[in-house]
Amino acid sequence: MTAAGAGPGATAARRPPVALYLHVPFCRSLCPYCDFVVYAGADAVGRRSRVEAFVDALGREIDLRADALDAAFGPPGATGRPALASLYLGGGTPSLLRAHDVAALVARVHRRFGLAADAEVTLEANPGPDDRGDLAGFAAAGVTRLSLGAQSLDDAELRALGRRHRAADVGDAVAAAREAGIPLVSLDLLYDLPDQRLATWAATLEGALELHPDHVSCYALTLDDPDAEGLTGPGGDHLPTLPGARRWRDRARPRQDEDRAAAAYALADAALAGAGLPWYELSNWAAPGHESRHNLAYWQRRPYEAAGPGAHAFDGVIRRWNAARLEGWLAALAPADGSPPALPPGGSESLDAGTAAAEELFLGLRTAHGVPREQALARADILAWAHEAGLVEDAPEARVRLTLRGRLLSNELFGRLV
Ligand code: SF4
Repeated sequence: MTAAGAGPGATAARRPPVALYLHVPFCRSLCPYCDFVVYAGADAVGRRSRVEAFVDALGREIDLRADALDAAFGPPGATGRPALASLYLGGGTPSLLRAHDVAALVARVHRRFGLAADAEVTLEANPGPDDRGDLAGFAAAGVTRLSLGAQSLDDAELRALGRRHRAADVGDAVAAAREAGIPLVSLDLLYDLPDQRLATWAATLEGALELHPDHVSCYALTLDDPDAEGLTGPGGDHLPTLPGARRWRDRARPRQDEDRAAAAYALADAALAGAGLPWYELSNWAAPGHESRHNLAYWQRRPYEAAGPGAHAFDGVIRRWNAARLEGWLAALAPADGSPPALPPGGSESLDAGTAAAEELFLGLRTAHGVPREQALARADILAWAHEAGLVEDAPEARVRLTLRGRLLSNELFGRLV
């Protein structure tokens, strides 16, 4: 963690957010590969659940973040303070929240940040019948987009991943979302699972496409070690990995395979593009016009605000994050002695101008739109190497973008850019 400071990047202007991320850190159970900030079991459901205290404190953080924006840029709707284009409730399993709590949060965000009339309001949900929540209530609350953690459509894979739902639940959840009137449905899928067969992955893709999603995200299973990366200390943005999860990952890693993962990615790209969902970002495919506006804000390096344990924000100059631990977050926002709420602990960093430019370049290259050739030429040596290696190609309007080979080897390219 570094303290916020006036590095060279601070010469860029701070800007008001176009998007807001709210992190809901609760799941019924913990999947052993998961690195998100999640509290499970009795924290999430039942008499001793901390969900109600969390929702109350989240409202307080929304107000404190909005107060700071009011002071810096004026109230929402003022010149230079546009209403948000996107609100994203991620987790965790935000669909565990009661619909009236989601409605109250959306209304609060509308009041304090402004929400454009056509704003994208995404809620993440799990597909199981006891996880997907009150979809009609969420639609009435203003949710326009449901992001479903399907992961696989193979029951054996789902069991091996420690997921609670079955493959058939995914179709039921999509149908329920459509019936509830939620306009857009996105499916998250995982590949490079331990010992995964390509035939099973192909069947998952085929089954997913039969559900006619508007958007699909495909992620390679990553089995990181946030403890070893120093991210889990008291002010860190990750929680420590539990011993059982650590053992699961140690067993799973040797059963992954880079070449198989590359074949799975290429298979997904062909199947999704063939079904009318071309890629628009390395891990994301969508029907034209249904790209995730929220995630595009990240890749376009536009400013976004965030609230909730472990949540990250960016104001055009400074990256800020809340510490992951729920206790510290709650203690700041809802002090036991009744004193006024304060912003939760966390950290921040300001990027120097060179790092900011490199970041803008590789985030732009993540997208199918690519970057202006002029911008890429700032790193002419690397661009020449990438062309030579078949990783990038010229695109219309004097732009440069990744080829399929470049997408498969993007880590190699991005490693050279930073
Ligand atoms: S359901 Fe999702 S957020 Fe919850 S533990 Fe599993 S992977 Fe993590």
